[in-house]
Amino acid sequence: MTSPSDRAIAAAEAHSAHNYHPLPVVVAAAEGAWMTDVDGRRYLDMLAGYSALNFGHGNPRLVRAAEEQLRRLTLTSRAFHHDRFGDFCEQLAALCGMEAVLPMNTGSEAVETAVKTARKWGYQVKGVPAGEARIVVAEGNFHGRTTTIVSFSTDPEARAGFDPFTPGFVTVPYGDLAAMEAAVDDRTVAVLLEPIQGEAGVLVPPPGYLAGVRELTRRRNVLFVADEIQSGLGRTGATFACEQEDVVPDVYLLGKALGGGIVPVSAVVSSREVLGVFRPGEHGSTFGGNPLACAVGLEVVALLRTGEYQERARVLGERMHAALARLTSAGAVTAVRGRGLWAGVDVAPAAVGAAPGTAGRRLCELLVERGVLAKDTHGDTVRLAPPLVVEEADLDFGLARIAEALGAAAPGGRGPGDGPGPAQQPPAG
Ligand code: PLP
Repeated sequence: MTSPSDRAIAAAEAHSAHNYHPLPVVVAAAEGAWMTDVDGRRYLDMLAGYSALNFGHGNPRLVRAAEEQLRRLTLTSRAFHHDRFGDFCEQLAALCGMEAVLPMNTGSEAVETAVKTARKWGYQVKGVPAGEARIVVAEGNFHGRTTTIVSFSTDPEARAGFDPFTPGFVTVPYGDLAAMEAAVDDRTVAVLLEPIQGEAGVLVPPPGYLAGVRELTRRRNVLFVADEIQSGLGRTGATFACEQEDVVPDVYLLGKALGGGIVPVSAVVSSREVLGVFRPGEHGSTFGGNPLACAVGLEVVALLRTGEYQERARVLGERMHAALARLTSAGAVTAVRGRGLWAGVDVAPAAVGAAPGTAGRRLCELLVERGVLAKDTHGDTVRLAPPLVVEEADLDFGLARIAEALGAAAPGGRGPGDGPGPAQQPPAG
């Protein structure tokens, strides 16, 4: 007899493109930090849609804002004004300490918009000769999957077979200020960086790097574009990861959590001078800045204004990193990086009985069996990013399951051979 899970997976295998390799879980419902599959099993979400669900599944305030808007007005296109647009732009700009907003939908579209913005700014404002604009990016970057964005990826998997690529990008090692300085010249219009590289394995650059990039870009009249699509909006324990380095970029790119886990909402946020380069018809999107997106985005901004989520990420993040550090000293984990409620965990292949390069996936599979969902990246690394609403006891449950799957002593003192106990059951919903 096949289960509902088996049937759903078989249908997806048969009828969808295989551009993802999902874990064998079929989620049917979710609330807060917990998901339930079609067979009624519960799992702690330790990925949060790659930070798109910072405020949890079905956040009541966000759902209410979306429901009210759904009943009133969902789409106008930008051919007309609508009554949520101005408020959204004003309040998001204020949250960012900036002047203007260009809303789009996906993160990739925000990055594409930034590339166009920087080029146009370079020609119109900086005076770069036509066709000469250069944007400096970092090795290991992940900014999305469009043809232009994979043109400046250094991940062979993201690029192979998708050429010819868009020219005009210069790549330097991440975290190396001297290399950045050497790469910037009179044609450089922007430096585009993730303040913490997510997909690369939650890589935090050396202290002073972002401040150094800020000083260099200011001195050379180059835009500093911070891709905070994954690192921003509370994840690291602050509204922006840049803020924790006392850096204010020229341009913020936001996405993921801006849509509250309900609709795709992204934005380029900057000064009037920078976003002022666009004239009607030069850029846009049918759905960008639609009423539903603005209603949800406005509520996201309101949640962030309380500071509560940033504080949760900071306090719970310390707890998570302390537990992960114990796994490092036990040898099951070779390195842990990250900030706030966000970690890249390098798994020792021997700890999960896996071949090198497959330990991340293996740990995630072991975690599925234990009621925890996380995601591997680049072979032996697992990325942890639970919703910021996760309860302390639930976080401890997840961390204990990770320790157990790695064959290390669980933080609560229970070891893998201790047999099932209350600490090994998902807390009741
Ligand atoms: N930029 C960063 C830093 C990301 O992490 C991602 C997605 O993971 C993107 C851009 C692309 O966003 P989207 O998948 O919404 O296009």
